[in-house]
Amino acid sequence: MTSAYEIIDHKYDVVILGAGGAGLRATLGMASAGLKTACITKVFPTRSHTVAAQGGIGAALGNMAEDHWEWHMYDTVKGADWLGDQDAIEYMCREAVSSVVELEHMGVPFSRNTEGKIYQRPFGGHMRNFGEAPVQRACAAADRTGHAILHTLYQQCLKHKAEFYVEYVAIDLIMGDDGTCEGIVAWNLDDGSIHVFRGHQVVIASGGYGRSYFSCTSAHTCTGDGNAMVARAGLPLQDHEFVQFHPTGIYGSGCLITEGARGEGGYLTNSEGERFMERYAPTAKDLASRDVVSRAMTIEILEGRGVGPNKDHIHLHLEHLGAETLHERLPGISESAQIFAGVDCTKEPIPVLPTVHYNMGGIPTNYKTEALNPTKANPDATSPGLMAIGECASASVHGANRLGTNSLLDIVVFGRSAGIRARELIVPNTPLRPYREGCADKALDRFDRLRFAKGSTPTAEIRLSMQHAMQNHAAVFRTDALMKEGCEKIDTIWNGLSDISVKDNSLIWNSDLIESLELENLMVCAKTTIYSAAARHESRGAHAHEDHPDRDDVNWMKHTLSWIDEKGNVTVDYRPVHNYTLTDEIEYIEPKARVY
Ligand SMILES: Cc1cc2nc3c(=O)[nH]c(=O)nc-3n(C[C@H](O)[C@H](O)[C@H](O)COP(=O)(O)OP(=O)(O)OC[C@H]3O[C@@H](n4cnc5c(N)ncnc54)[C@H](O)[C@@H]3O)c2cc1C
Repeated sequence: MTSAYEIIDHKYDVVILGAGGAGLRATLGMASAGLKTACITKVFPTRSHTVAAQGGIGAALGNMAEDHWEWHMYDTVKGADWLGDQDAIEYMCREAVSSVVELEHMGVPFSRNTEGKIYQRPFGGHMRNFGEAPVQRACAAADRTGHAILHTLYQQCLKHKAEFYVEYVAIDLIMGDDGTCEGIVAWNLDDGSIHVFRGHQVVIASGGYGRSYFSCTSAHTCTGDGNAMVARAGLPLQDHEFVQFHPTGIYGSGCLITEGARGEGGYLTNSEGERFMERYAPTAKDLASRDVVSRAMTIEILEGRGVGPNKDHIHLHLEHLGAETLHERLPGISESAQIFAGVDCTKEPIPVLPTVHYNMGGIPTNYKTEALNPTKANPDATSPGLMAIGECASASVHGANRLGTNSLLDIVVFGRSAGIRARELIVPNTPLRPYREGCADKALDRFDRLRFAKGSTPTAEIRLSMQHAMQNHAAVFRTDALMKEGCEKIDTIWNGLSDISVKDNSLIWNSDLIESLELENLMVCAKTTIYSAAARHESRGAHAHEDHPDRDDVNWMKHTLSWIDEKGNVTVDYRPVHNYTLTDEIEYIEPKARVY
């Protein structure tokens, strides 16, 4: 079918998909360097999920006590359970200090310590001297760090006259016959027009896909659109089985209580009032890595020591911190506890439960943010014209489990890195390839298939089945049987997509159509997640496999790659983890048992 749409063609040096922290940091770097840059976003930039980040951004500034980027790197490698690429981790931890100072100079209103320097708080898995004791490394703007960073970046982008296309939904990538990414097809919600954005480089910064699960801390917009576009372009996704459960989502709503709450001295108890983390992680206790704490909480509940009438959650205590500290350091979460749990956290504990929070996996990239199209001969082969940054990408700095505060760091460090790489790759004034008639047809066929879908199942119903299947079959603890059943369920739900019903075919703010496009994207992410999980026969980081309870470095220290075809068939293969650092200044950190 040839599309009936009149297409508006735009020519840029770089096209950035997403205006969260990653997209804005890249936009800023590119626009300020004189590259003609378009930033496309389905929500207003400062509504991107980054705005919700609470606890902090990690950098070894050493403002509170001695700290070093090498310690930060060690913690990140260990947190990642040795699935991270150490060259990329070195790059991130090394660049952390200057990236945060840069943010400060741009105007991010960080909280201050008594010396007037950036305030830093303890966070899970951040330790001094290669794992000895907790260190204060999380640079915080109260409990609204993401808000402060996102607003500052947006203001800086405006100052540098970056061009934004706001409330445009990107539908799919445009791929040339030679496999080069040439641009993006997008739909303007305001007037219903269809646009092609072409550039020398397309940078995907579309965030995570938390919404493929029933209970998650992420915004409704976190639907894995970029990951799915890459998959539909025939490229692989990496390590999708590693989904982080944050220990403290508010019971019932999933709304996040930052780990900074435990950083400030909060602790967890079970129905016996016991501070059970002391048993599971004698050194770091409540500040062990997230996967460790989430598993401990789940075990407490499964063994009958959960709190509440149904013994199905855990208590987080902050009341001993005092109203003044809570007001100064954690004002936002005090408010969230009141609104979402009806709890005054100065007086009583907050009911919490491990909740889906972050996707470690994503579009594979190198530390320069170029997307990869690995082959057996060259597992690091790049995919021309395509870059990816932020939560949608897998560089891989988070490996099998991300440390708190390392995502805000990831988005600013790799957002900046994308700018640096684009300036190297793009020769000023090089003309784009000529516009190819019909280049948007494939994307628009998909668009029309949904726009005119006359099935009988509402989008929301299919979405709910998918979310339940993922929550029940790919959560904190996994078994062969559970995941096999999960794959079958997801297959059935996928097949049900052909019966989707979209209520009307309007092109103006048609939220049913938007959600249907998003649902297809979520399904791609859900399928690759559960199939990748079922294929990994070991336990590592967030992937806790009860039939294979140990980490197996001999057979499984490798990244999963997953491809999905139009019918929904998933193929899984692997590529090696980088067992080298970036420079000679630091040695490769050899795998060892992970204890906190
Ligand atoms: C509640 C919460 C608290 C957190 N707290 C912390 C913290 O304290 N420290 C930390 O390090 N990390 C934290 N994280 C994680 C971190 O905030 C995120 O991983 C990070 O902000 C993601 O940034 P991003 O730029 O990759 O994506 P996002 O901020 O999610 O932005 C994605 C962008 O892509 C756009 N987009 C997506 N799809 C389309 C499409 N089809 N068309 C057009 N535009 C599209 C969106 O409009 C948006 O602008 C937290 C996460 C949550 C959910």
